[in-house]
Amino acid sequence: MNEKIKSLVQISLERINNCNSINDLELIKIELLSKNGSFANLMKDLKAIPNDQKPYYGKIINEAKSEVLNVFSQKFSFLNEQALKEKEKSEALDVTLSKKREIGAFNPINIVKKDISDIFIGMGFSLADGPEIELKKYNFDLLNIPDDHPARDLTDTFYITDDLLLRTQTSGVQIRVMEKEKPPIKIICPGKVYRPDDDATHSPMFHQIEGLYVDENVTLKDLKKTLEEFAKLFFDKDTIVRFRPSFFPFTEPSVEVDLSCRMCHGKGCSLCKYTGWLELLGAGVVNPIVLEKAGLDSKKYSGFAFGIGVERAAMIKYGIPDMRLMFDNDIRFIKQFKF
Ligand SMILES: [Zn+2]
Repeated sequence: MNEKIKSLVQISLERINNCNSINDLELIKIELLSKNGSFANLMKDLKAIPNDQKPYYGKIINEAKSEVLNVFSQKFSFLNEQALKEKEKSEALDVTLSKKREIGAFNPINIVKKDISDIFIGMGFSLADGPEIELKKYNFDLLNIPDDHPARDLTDTFYITDDLLLRTQTSGVQIRVMEKEKPPIKIICPGKVYRPDDDATHSPMFHQIEGLYVDENVTLKDLKKTLEEFAKLFFDKDTIVRFRPSFFPFTEPSVEVDLSCRMCHGKGCSLCKYTGWLELLGAGVVNPIVLEKAGLDSKKYSGFAFGIGVERAAMIKYGIPDMRLMFDNDIRFIKQFKF
């Protein structure tokens, strides 16, 4: 029995000392020191030994096991420390290494917002601003939007209270400016607007650029001239603009403004759904009721207004198929707009 114990200790120590990985050491531990390991089996062998000698051998086996366990623990600490050092070394940051830095790019929404604003500023418009959390009065009532108009529904507007909402359009800024200033008024208001829509061509938050020109004798002709000039500068000089009759409560007459398709130039393709035209924006002559509500004399003054969807303009200009790409912040998408 003595020989057996001695030999097991010797083999165990040899194996532990020669082991160079924590994983292997764990395996050795299971083989030697677990419930069914070599030392436990040695204890089972005691059954065959006369009763009076059992305590003696039991003590010797336990001491041998302790010795092996002790060496095992030391080796385990050593290997563990070594592994940590290796890890630190491999993850160390060499600050002397030069790394190529990526230069960022503007989101197409910002590029388009700036380009459109610059064009209108060049035509004599100035920038105006208004709150994104807006009173119902400015978002609907003063714009002549009837109480039963579907745009006021909970499904089309984010309400905060009965009177307070996230603006659904930048048109409220028109009223705020007309209340404060006397004509001539020539403003654009770029900003965020909110509607509960979310699909490939709608986002719950998107950007509009509102335009308003109020003075004596401003007509639909002035609106057409202004938007034609804008389309040629923003898209290209061959762009044709078409007015289609429409209806908005705040303009009279109202028009939908279409562009000749940039891909097929009017011949018809999948982009323009084979119509040759792309819808760009809504516009019209300011309804005299709106001028009066804002405190302006509608007999003396007239005006035009338009609302450009920034994302829509970006999608048309750059051929972006899904509006949500512009909100994903994926550098691979944004990078394409590095000019
Ligand atoms: Zn087309």
